[in-house]
Amino acid sequence: AEDATHKQAEENLLRSPICCIMGHVDAGKTKLLDFVRGTNVQEGEAGFITQQIGATYFPAENIRERTKELKADAKLKVPGLCDIAILVVDITDGLKPQTIESLKLLKMRNTEFIIALNKVDRLYGWKTCRNAPIVKAMKQQSKDVQNEFNMKLRQIVTQFMEQGLNTELYYKNREMGETFNMVPTSAISGEGIPDLLLLLVQWTQKTMVEKLTFNNKVQCTVLEVKVIEGHGTTIDVVLVNGVIHEGDQIGPIVTTIRALLTPHPMKELRVKGTYLHHKEIKAAQGIKITAQGLEHAIAGTGLYVVGIDDDLEDVKEAAMEDMKSVMSRIDKSGEGVYVQASTLGSLEAFLEYLKSLDVCIPVSGIGIGPVHKKDVMKASVMLEKKKEYGTILAFDVKVTPEARELAAELGVKIFIDEVIYRLFDQFKAYICNLKEEKKREAADEAVFPCVLKIVPEYVVRNKNPIVLGVDVLEGIAKVGTPICIPQRDFIDIGRIASIENNRKPVEIAKKGQKVSIKIVGSNHEEQQKMFGRHFDVEDELVSHISRRSIDVLKAYYRDDLSRDEWKLVVKLKNLFKIQ
Ligand code: GDP
Repeated sequence: AEDATHKQAEENLLRSPICCIMGHVDAGKTKLLDFVRGTNVQEGEAGFITQQIGATYFPAENIRERTKELKADAKLKVPGLCDIAILVVDITDGLKPQTIESLKLLKMRNTEFIIALNKVDRLYGWKTCRNAPIVKAMKQQSKDVQNEFNMKLRQIVTQFMEQGLNTELYYKNREMGETFNMVPTSAISGEGIPDLLLLLVQWTQKTMVEKLTFNNKVQCTVLEVKVIEGHGTTIDVVLVNGVIHEGDQIGPIVTTIRALLTPHPMKELRVKGTYLHHKEIKAAQGIKITAQGLEHAIAGTGLYVVGIDDDLEDVKEAAMEDMKSVMSRIDKSGEGVYVQASTLGSLEAFLEYLKSLDVCIPVSGIGIGPVHKKDVMKASVMLEKKKEYGTILAFDVKVTPEARELAAELGVKIFIDEVIYRLFDQFKAYICNLKEEKKREAADEAVFPCVLKIVPEYVVRNKNPIVLGVDVLEGIAKVGTPICIPQRDFIDIGRIASIENNRKPVEIAKKGQKVSIKIVGSNHEEQQKMFGRHFDVEDELVSHISRRSIDVLKAYYRDDLSRDEWKLVVKLKNLFKIQ
């Protein structure tokens, strides 16, 4: 009994660590989490630490119970698991885009992690050894299963190698720290789960006891902001360190905690809306907090408790620090797309990715958590400035039905993907389409520059529609181009209606070509111009450009014109005295 008390005292000094589960969709993150916690997130319950967030709390008793068979448990210094990640890979599937992105995030954040090679039970012919340590389970398998396992394992090791990572089965790993540990698991029948838990605990003990020593400084992160019937807007938080009380004043949104809630521990009672109320909660734990004004909370940011001696302004400032690095990515011009991500970390990762691209994609606003109506409203402001910026890039977050409806109504585009580059590709394709569309719309207003010389022997028809043989002296003669005569007071004689080259109709004729053009003049006969009367052989025919036509060319036809052709635009611009 004394031993137990002692152990209890020791545990009180340590906080429970937080473990994140990451990996590709369907790799088995939720199932693994459920299995370890003995809960059932998957089948819809009130547990608010969702699979998307993938952070959870593992009760210490649970671990002790489950590692029993390995007989290595004995002196657990750490209650629960640690501030470490489990990267889940489906052993039958190997590495997937999201696995690779999770890897990048882990590297970026310098987070320790263990790889779970999940779904071993799906190897053909697998013999179930419920909750058995993996080596023991593996011994029970036929040669065929073992061979298949080894083959899959080699493939995955190679795939990790391609990502610059050395990996090895944990029980063969002689270079812990440099070579990352892999644990084969099944979230269905439990093989390898004891190994996974033990490994997490050992790793924690070795590296993180210091970090995990409980102290009173509250460290708390907002995971999700959501409206719950009967509670108004609530926040789901992970209390990483410290103690939090009902009635505590919190920031940066200054408000007072009305209630501290946790889901009911008994599965049968986890019906919607039944929570346990607490006077105080000690780290680490996932908590739902209700208070006034929480709709302004931002998921992914820190939550601060204002102590009696604390200056409110200092607390506010500290809260802003979290957001600083991402805030600095927002374009100063105030123009750009809206980016929404599930956590501050993934937001940083996405902004980092955008920055690494050759093309510049300005960001005007950011948000964390699901896309709500208010985010759509903010993004819609851009529509007037630049249509393509009236866009929300939603990285691994949900969009509420109301937000979706409003977006459709206002014309805000929302792109969603849980893979960074795919999300970007969607947006890129959209911009290209938009540009093509605008180009088509603006085609009538675009005027290509040309200077044409009349070939006297080929004046076929001298009045409307005029048909002439011309030499293209400079630029591009294009169907639709308005033609005027600078030498004759810039009179407009009409638009090129058609061009023939060697009696074949063509859309354009370039410098050096001799072609026949038909020019259609005004609908009003009195305004129509005649060859031989209003102009003559010595007059040059020139594209009638304008400020607007130059702008359209620049916006949509930049690459359609050569350097010399652009020079001609400048020359004509001077000729027409366009500012
Ligand atoms: P998540 O998207 O990563 O959270 O994946 P889930 O936990 O939702 O699992 C995806 C699917 O794979 C579900 O149908 C699970 O039942 C199944 N699954 C997860 N882990 C295992 C496993 O170890 N073995 C088998 N056979 N199926 C699994």
